[in-house]
Parts: sequence; structure tokens; C-alpha cells
Amino acid sequence: MHTILPHMLKLGSYEAGIRPQNVREVIKLNQNENPYPPSPQVRGVLSKANWQELRCYPDPQMEELREGLAEVYRVRKERIFCGSGSSEIISLLFTVCVGHERRIAIPDPSFSLYASVAAVHQAECVKIPTRDDFSVDVDGLLECGAHAVMLVNPNNPTGVQLPLAEVERLVKHVKGLVVVDEAYIDFAESGSSAIPLIDQYEHVIVLRTFSKSYALSGARVGYAFANETLIAALEKAKHLYNINVLSQRLALAALSDQEYMKWRAALIRRNREWLSSQLRQLDFHVVPSQANFILCSPPPEGPYDARALYQKLMDRNLFVRYFEEPRLRGYVRISIGTDEQMKCTMDVIQDLFGE
Ligand SMILES: *Cc1c(COP(=O)(O)O)cnc(C)c1O
Repeated sequence: MHTILPHMLKLGSYEAGIRPQNVREVIKLNQNENPYPPSPQVRGVLSKANWQELRCYPDPQMEELREGLAEVYRVRKERIFCGSGSSEIISLLFTVCVGHERRIAIPDPSFSLYASVAAVHQAECVKIPTRDDFSVDVDGLLECGAHAVMLVNPNNPTGVQLPLAEVERLVKHVKGLVVVDEAYIDFAESGSSAIPLIDQYEHVIVLRTFSKSYALSGARVGYAFANETLIAALEKAKHLYNINVLSQRLALAALSDQEYMKWRAALIRRNREWLSSQLRQLDFHVVPSQANFILCSPPPEGPYDARALYQKLMDRNLFVRYFEEPRLRGYVRISIGTDEQMKCTMDVIQDLFGE
């Protein structure tokens, strides 16, 4: 095929979690989605929506949504960017700040989308191993001489959070772009966000999303905070109408109900601690998580290894995530669900691992 660029032919396809067809009959804990519905305000928007409005283009500047974000996060509108999921913002950052033949650094393991997008953009991706406890090796990231560093904090799939002082140390010493992807920060016990760093540093961008804590994965809305110069550059690179009319309003409605989001996030934190302690009682190793999922490893002397556990759970219509990667082979990642889903998950695991 001469029509396709050689690097694209070589590239594997991005592997997202399995999407089972019969979502009502299965327990889906493989994509870190929110198990609770979005705010009732979101439902209100949908029930009042007028189909005639779809005739017109959306606001390309997304003034209302950005004003809403400005108010909630106390950041000026000029420093806020919205994208079709934070995934789009990640791609745009490669277009705007990385380009090809440049080197980016990312901790390993981390969100695999970064490496995939790097490959599409023909950027070199250096993976810096996390320590034995999966904590991020800041010095390793600093020493590899990358043009850009991509940090997911709390990290996916480990749930480990790097303290803000360490994030700042990284930002201070990297000359190129520093991305701090805070997709999961609303689930962290101490939500010390890197957002304030954008006041001092022009090369840091903080990514957030409506997909997790706001329960709007299907609406595809992400947002970012950075210096106005970087935001303006992203604006130039984006598709003009990157977020549709309805999604803009759904996101604004979810955003307006902070109390609901925080209440649900607290329930998820509670369920996370419950699931972690239950698994530890069965001698699982559970990596302490600050996100809406846990990474855990079955006891070595137990009847099933991680891969077999993943299969056994799937046989019982319980979908979790297994990663065929050296550092993660011994683990499964389980997204935190409702009380009922967590009890059901533990019943199945108890059946498999109990006496
Ligand atoms: C889920 C997730 C996102 C969110 O992606 P969207 O495109 O906004 O749905 C971003 N970063 C990480 C690390 C994630 O795990």
C-alpha cells in the first residue's frame, strides 16, 4: 500500500477495554467509567433539548462552557481550552508542541494512549520505569533529556499519586512541555491539583475530563488549563466545531452540579477502600489507589494467576482489565463500581479464592 505512510502501516491499533453488548447483564469494570449516572441536571438538559437546534453550528469558542469552567476552577477563560475528550487535547499537544522526531518521556506503566499518539505523530517515546511500588521516578524523567514529559496524576493504571511538590520539581527542571493529566484527581484523598502551577510556569498544561468524575464518557468533553499563549496555539490547531451543541450543554449542566459530583466521588472512594480491604483479606496485593480503580495482584500461592482471574471473571460476566505488559502481567485493574457491583465482584472472587 503506497497510499499509506509507512509508520502508519507498522502501527498496531489502540486497544481500549472490551465493550460487552448486553451492558445490563454484565458488570463492566474495565474502562474506569463512573458507575453512577450523571447529575440530574444533565437529564434536564436532554429532556428540554429541541431537535431543531441541531440545524445550526455550535459555538466554536464554547464561551458558556469556558465561563462555567472559569467560575468553578477560578481560572481566567483565556487560560481554558475544551476538546472532544481529553484524548483530542493530547493529540493536539503533539501537533502544537511536539511534532515529529522529537522525544517525549512518560512513566511506565501509564496510560497507553500517550505512546500510541506519539507513534502516530512519529515522536520518540521514552518510557521511564516507575519504582517497585509504582511511584514515579522524577529524576529518571528529568535525566532522559526529553522535549516533553507526560505525567498522569493520579496515574492510570496504578492509581498512584505523585505529591504536588514532586510535580513542581519536575515542572521546574523540564524546559519543554509538561502535561499533567488529572483525569482522576476528583477521586484523590488530597486533591492537590497542579492547576495553580499554570500561573508561574508557561510550559505546563493540566488536563481534565468530564468522562470520569462527571460520568459523561459518552459525551466526549475534556478541558485543559494553561498559559494563554499555549491555549491560543491549541485553538488554532483544533477542529473548529470540535464539541457538538448538545455535549457542550451536557458538560455545563454536569459542571454546575458540583455537590452531586463530589457526593458520587466520595461514594466511589468509600467503595475503593472497601474493595481494597476485602481483597487484602484474601492475601491479594493491592496497590494503594487515589483513583476510581485499583490495581491488584492475586496471591502467588493462590489457585489462579492474574490472567486466569481475568478470564474467570469474564466467564461470570464480570469485565475487568488485564494488560499483557511486563510490569503488569501479575495484575488486574478493577474499576470501582456501585456497592452492589462491588459486593457481587467480591462474592465471585471469594468463590474463586476462598477456602
Ligand atoms: C480516562 C482517561 C482520560 C479521559 O479521556 P477522555 O478522552 O476525556 O474520555 C484521560 N487520561 C487518562 C489517563 C485516562 O485514564
